[in-house]
Amino acid sequence: MITEEILGFPVDAITYDDIINDLPKYMQAGKKMSAISVNPQVIVESQNYPMINKFIKQSTHRIPDGIGVVLVSKLTAGKIKERVAGIELMQRFLAYADLNKKSVFFYGARPEVVSDAAVKVKQDYPNLTLSGTIDGYTKLTEAEVVANINKANPDFLFVALGFPKQEEWLARNIPYLNVSIFQDVGGSLDVLSGHVKRAPKIFIRCHLEWLYRSLSDPKRLRRITQLPVFVFKSLWWKVRTSNDKKDY
Ligand code: UDP
Repeated sequence: MITEEILGFPVDAITYDDIINDLPKYMQAGKKMSAISVNPQVIVESQNYPMINKFIKQSTHRIPDGIGVVLVSKLTAGKIKERVAGIELMQRFLAYADLNKKSVFFYGARPEVVSDAAVKVKQDYPNLTLSGTIDGYTKLTEAEVVANINKANPDFLFVALGFPKQEEWLARNIPYLNVSIFQDVGGSLDVLSGHVKRAPKIFIRCHLEWLYRSLSDPKRLRRITQLPVFVFKSLWWKVRTSNDKKDY
């Protein structure tokens, strides 16, 4: 697997198919796969969270889940050719679980969202087992959440607590979970359940999903400026580090 550095942060040049092809290898070997979304927000903000920084560096699959990441890679002759969107990867994981009769667990999102997502998933993927759900506002302690998940014994665990909570939670708890495949899925359960609409196809096709989401949610408005700043800083970082290398 080829890994690139963007602002000193690792992102893997992988496709949906590469990740899906790795699933049986990890499951059969009893190894843990952590498919973690890396986007401009994660790269910039996780510099303030050493635990997340370390966790992502040690994750098995750091997915290029942002057009900003793809753009920087292309502008610097890198190997990342396409975005791997967290929600689409989750749908492919669900399809794999359906085809291979595997079990999945959802942890996160509002109670009504996670229960609606459960209903939808059981309809759309009738051959997988939904071994349990816990909403992201539960009164259970962290140890109790972990114990409940272990009792359910799922193959896949999707954690939907948003950044930085989900990454911190995974960093703390993966070692104690008997689960094979982990994914941080942000607001994907909101979309899967039908509570939130994904951007219209034209925005997705034009790589402008981030703009649509920023404009349709006032809390996300400041992310509009985050993308150009991110691209500029990343390019400047590349220039500086390649000059440093030349000095040796
Ligand atoms: N969330 C949660 N518990 C919390 C905070 C957030 O379960 O304490 C959920 C929230 O309900 C939503 C998701 O985490 O379903 C965060 O979605 P957001 O769109 O902010 O994440 P992004 O996709 O931007 O990472």
